[in-house]
Amino acid sequence: MSLLTTLKETLINIDPYQSFELGRVDSFADGVINISGFGNLVYMEVVSVQVSDRLSVPALVLEVNLQSAKALLLDQTPVKAGMEVKSYNQILKLKVDPELRGVVYDAFGRVILGEDSDLERLVEILIEDNAPELIDREPVSRPLSTGILAIDSMVNIGKGQRQLIIGDRQTGKTSIALDAIINQKGQNTVCIYCSIGQKQSSVTNLVSQLKASGALDYTVVFNASANESVAMQYLAPFSAVSLGQYLMNQGKDVLVIYDDLSKHAVAWRQLSLLLKRPVGREAFPGDVFYLHSRLLERGGQLVESLGGGSLTALPIIETLANDVTGYIPTNVISITDGQIYLESNLFNKGIRPAISVGLSVSRVGGAAQTKAIKKNAGKIKLELSQYRELASFSQIGSGLDSGTKAILKHGQVLTQLLVQDNLKPLSPTSQIARLKLASLGLLDKIDLDRLPHIIEQLDNQSLLNFGELKTWLDAGKWSDEIEVELTTKLTHFMESIKLK
Ligand code: ATP
Ligand code: MG
Repeated sequence: MSLLTTLKETLINIDPYQSFELGRVDSFADGVINISGFGNLVYMEVVSVQVSDRLSVPALVLEVNLQSAKALLLDQTPVKAGMEVKSYNQILKLKVDPELRGVVYDAFGRVILGEDSDLERLVEILIEDNAPELIDREPVSRPLSTGILAIDSMVNIGKGQRQLIIGDRQTGKTSIALDAIINQKGQNTVCIYCSIGQKQSSVTNLVSQLKASGALDYTVVFNASANESVAMQYLAPFSAVSLGQYLMNQGKDVLVIYDDLSKHAVAWRQLSLLLKRPVGREAFPGDVFYLHSRLLERGGQLVESLGGGSLTALPIIETLANDVTGYIPTNVISITDGQIYLESNLFNKGIRPAISVGLSVSRVGGAAQTKAIKKNAGKIKLELSQYRELASFSQIGSGLDSGTKAILKHGQVLTQLLVQDNLKPLSPTSQIARLKLASLGLLDKIDLDRLPHIIEQLDNQSLLNFGELKTWLDAGKWSDEIEVELTTKLTHFMESIKLK
């Protein structure tokens, strides 16, 4: 349904006796209209320009002055100076069915793919709204497992956390977000994926992958592709977070993904240039920092008395030539609670997910890990950084002592253990089995070529033959008895491998 038809419908439904104010178009250029004659226009209000008796075009007010205002036309219809503009005092709102899943919305919350909303359940949600107050928040303490071992063990994410995924193009950023969604199956978490300025084909692929893995049943997609107007691209993440916040206020756990905020910043830059605002660093407008902070601040963990809901945000940023010091990357890094930094050279070497151990961090840390993961993942980050440092030196020298050789081998084993295909999230039990096997040093004597096969067998074993141990480990439990039993199982597993 085109915007025009919706607006027409809205206009038809409007009570004719309801008061509206009249103004007029002063000038029109590049999709922006200057309007005058209004006394009380509001920021983010939707006004309609009367093109003819029957046709009106909506516009979004983005700047308000004493005598005039600037609004962005939401339609391609040409507009003339002197045309009438009507204001109904309607701030831009998202009108959606909050129970609906498996749908693709546009930036205004109109269904573009999937079943239609139930009209009885429609709610109106402000697109620009306040973030939860300080007093309403609680520290992040519950894990949001992504099923990706490298993330859950080293840069884990908690419910209510904002964790940035950053890296060059084609380094697996979207795949990490997609796996995180897939791993929420049966976890009572609503997922919202918001695509900003992406190719239509990438979004179609993503939706079909979500569908194939059964994740569409608890997921909603907001889509403002590259072919849509900058206004839609600017609004899409705000619409996504509005629905997310609404669900969080109902006590639900929500995961929102913004893919990606670099393109969002570019859309805002275009809008600002059209509005003739002065530009600053890297030609971005001065308020681009505020743009992203007011978006990301709307996430968090609410206190129990408000239902204890949470909104976890995974913004994605694309860098150029691994440069994380650009204006937009540094802005978003400073707003979030940590970042997952993906390196293209690791990705090209086949170390996927290509997470840089040194540059990735989670500022929530162990507070949001289960006991079982925390106990087993403790040393891994340190060991890996030690290994990467040594590895770069050892390329030059030969005749290494046995201690160094052991550290190098252990590092190679760890690196292999963290390699994981996309679309294959690991259960907590498989994750802990991999970590424990590494810390017991049982793999340090094995040929590296054999490792992928052994790891695959371990994953199968831990799924099939761990019995009650699997129930405990999946629940994140850890005790001395569990440790003894796991060690026994792993030792037997290694013996069975050696016999073959
Ligand atoms: P873009 O910059 O185009 O948005 P991106 O950084 O989001 O790219 P993806 O689209 O997630 O990257 O992944 C790029 C390619 O790498 C895809 O074909 C994907 O299947 C593959 N890939 C991603 N992660 C893995 C992985 N862990 N193992 C194997 N292949 C992977
Ligand atoms: Mg991507």
